[in-house]
Amino acid sequence: MSALPGAPHLARAGADLQLDGQPLAALAQAYGTPLFVYSQRAMLDALAAYQRALQGRQHLVCYAMKANSSLAVLQSFARAGCGFDIVSGGELARVLAAGGDPAKVVFSGVGKTPAEMRQALLCGPAGVRCFNVESTAELDTLNAVALSLGRRAPVSLRVNPDVDAGTHPYISTGLKGNKFGIAHAQAVGAYRHAASLPGLQVVGIDCHIGSQITQIAPYLDALDRLLDLVEQVEAAGIPIHHVDVGGGLGVSYSSDEAPPQADRLVAALLQRLDARGHGQRELLFEPGRSLVANAGVLLTEVLVLKPGADDGSGGKNFCIVDAAMNDLVRPAMYEAWMQIEPCRLRDAAPSTWDVVGPVCESGDWLGRDRALAVQPGDVLAILSAGAYGMTMASNYNTRPRAAEVMLVDGQACLIREREAVASLFAAERLIER
Ligand SMILES: *Cc1c(COP(=O)(O)O)cnc(C)c1O
Repeated sequence: MSALPGAPHLARAGADLQLDGQPLAALAQAYGTPLFVYSQRAMLDALAAYQRALQGRQHLVCYAMKANSSLAVLQSFARAGCGFDIVSGGELARVLAAGGDPAKVVFSGVGKTPAEMRQALLCGPAGVRCFNVESTAELDTLNAVALSLGRRAPVSLRVNPDVDAGTHPYISTGLKGNKFGIAHAQAVGAYRHAASLPGLQVVGIDCHIGSQITQIAPYLDALDRLLDLVEQVEAAGIPIHHVDVGGGLGVSYSSDEAPPQADRLVAALLQRLDARGHGQRELLFEPGRSLVANAGVLLTEVLVLKPGADDGSGGKNFCIVDAAMNDLVRPAMYEAWMQIEPCRLRDAAPSTWDVVGPVCESGDWLGRDRALAVQPGDVLAILSAGAYGMTMASNYNTRPRAAEVMLVDGQACLIREREAVASLFAAERLIER
């Protein structure tokens, strides 16, 4: 059969689909469905590709934890020396709960509250490593918060380099006309302003141009734009220590997507840094998806088959499964294509199915027009579900969120229990009058 995204961690052994050598159908049987299963080895291998390529250089890889923020995932990365890119005080609390080091945390996000700023300044011995600031108004607020605590907040300015990452409009963030970052033309002025504020310490510059990027060229363009600014800002007497090129490296969801490997991206960026005489500069990365997407699958059981001829639904065959858009929203939200594989192959001719969930929305689909030989009770694996799966899950339709299992050295570990229905409304109150 064709190569599976996530190989070699994911493979067929006879009819059985296995992750790290564990048959997925057996895991579905043991833990129930819907179930996320992750390979810790796959996650650590993906991180190691960045770390190896950066060896010998001043660097920090900050995992963009919004891709998958389960504590055991964070713990696995923290133990491997990884830092974290956070976007909320809640994410900071998760990093600390998982044993992460706040000195390796960069705090991104276009709308940080003063309370979140305080939390980030006061955590650990010296607060977070850096605030990635997105506007001059935020500089002023952060300055005031830091002064009120008798601290100096380390800042990097997130610059919008105005480069086209060539990705889906919803996940493209580096072009003029979206809400992220400080316009390139305003950046030098913003740095002057930051340097004039006593509660701030300029430490870096950053950008993040989008997600699911499959080319190296946009990164090189963005780096060039950042280095132009670094040179101008330093010429104005404001030293900049690190350059943070953000995240966004794509993964292959299907065999016709072939994004560069992380080590090739890193090598190209290091070469450009050297060529421009910035080889000594510390380089930061904020990868999310590329560290976790292909390390995970979502397992779901087939509930009902509705062949199109039965009910006049226009000839479409529906395969209704027990996972839905509330478990995995990427197809509904971005029209994302995710590969779907039976966990145990049947010796039968496939039919064409739309794989859909039970939620009351026409947008509740996981895959369209898929050739599958399936029967009710079969377990399907939705591949590349390790990123933006569980973190975007909701309780829509009062559906408890799925359980999560991590494969660690060949052992399955339950890292999140299936949510209990009672907990879904435990914080709600009836009116007492
Ligand atoms: C989402 C995000 C990332 C990670 O993006 P991926 O596409 O998952 O690699 C990195 N940095 C910032 C600021 C982000 O918002």
